[in-house]
Amino acid sequence: MLALWIGLSACIASPIAPADAAQHAPVATVFAPSPPPYLPGREEDARVADLAFRLATRAALRCPVTVPALGFALQHLTQFELPDRAGLAATLALDRGPGVTLVVPDSPAAVAGMRAGDVLLAVGGTPLPPEEARDLPFVAARAHARADAILDRIDAGARAAAGGALSISVLREGTTLSLSLAPRPACPSRVHLARSVQRNAFADGTHVFVTTGLLARLRGDDEVAFFLAHEMAHNILGHAAVMRGGDVRRGLGRTLGKSGAIIRGVERDADRLGALMMHDAGLDPVSGAQALLRLDGGMLDGPFGEHDSPAARIAAVRAAVAAP
Ligand SMILES: [Zn+2]
Repeated sequence: MLALWIGLSACIASPIAPADAAQHAPVATVFAPSPPPYLPGREEDARVADLAFRLATRAALRCPVTVPALGFALQHLTQFELPDRAGLAATLALDRGPGVTLVVPDSPAAVAGMRAGDVLLAVGGTPLPPEEARDLPFVAARAHARADAILDRIDAGARAAAGGALSISVLREGTTLSLSLAPRPACPSRVHLARSVQRNAFADGTHVFVTTGLLARLRGDDEVAFFLAHEMAHNILGHAAVMRGGDVRRGLGRTLGKSGAIIRGVERDADRLGALMMHDAGLDPVSGAQALLRLDGGMLDGPFGEHDSPAARIAAVRAAVAAP
């Protein structure tokens, strides 16, 4: 995160996991006179995006590699089932390009005047490629690849701007506007909110997924940020590669010997960096970690998931921010 999926890589880009997005009914563009910075039904996405953006940008100095964060998220026509697409084209013009689902307040996108409902037409003066699969049935992997390709294009445009402003052309109520966004350096991670009853958060090396099922069990921004920061830290620290390269055994035996040591080591490192990121962002990781006492044993953590006890983790978080 921010194109956090929120892609924190170019933004929090697509806050919804494409595989899950297709389960959603199309939303309508009916705005109040003073519209919120997100489309109807995207309040939780906006909350996750805001926190992910805050974590990624304020902790940027801790990350050896940074990405340009812009602070908006997108949705794409091919993330939806075929029968829904005509309606989305009619109401949100998603047939013209990716649509903005949310804008993080005070982010480069917000400062530039981007709004939820805008449709991206061009980045850095180059039109975005059309969705070639728009008439094909929904396939999660294909939708995911499309979303990432657009984020990659935005990232590349922001890098090409070399510290200057990135020009993004948007379609708004039938009119084409040119917006000028000044990217902000951020820790890399594309953060998504996935619609699922499972209570889970996980990282795959590039993306972070947190489920609505987990979000529903969390109390307050500190607790939500604790899980986001922990998963973002896995990506920032390259833990997916560590797990692939360390001969880590899965399933039975994973907690034993070398495999167990590697897994517990990356978990402790992710807790520590996550705590420091929260500290940088003005959030309280010790308060956030209290959620572990309620959720222990009920939450997975992708390929990792072998943690110390909640009490030990909370103590380690407290120690990390005591001497940041
Ligand atoms: Zn973990």
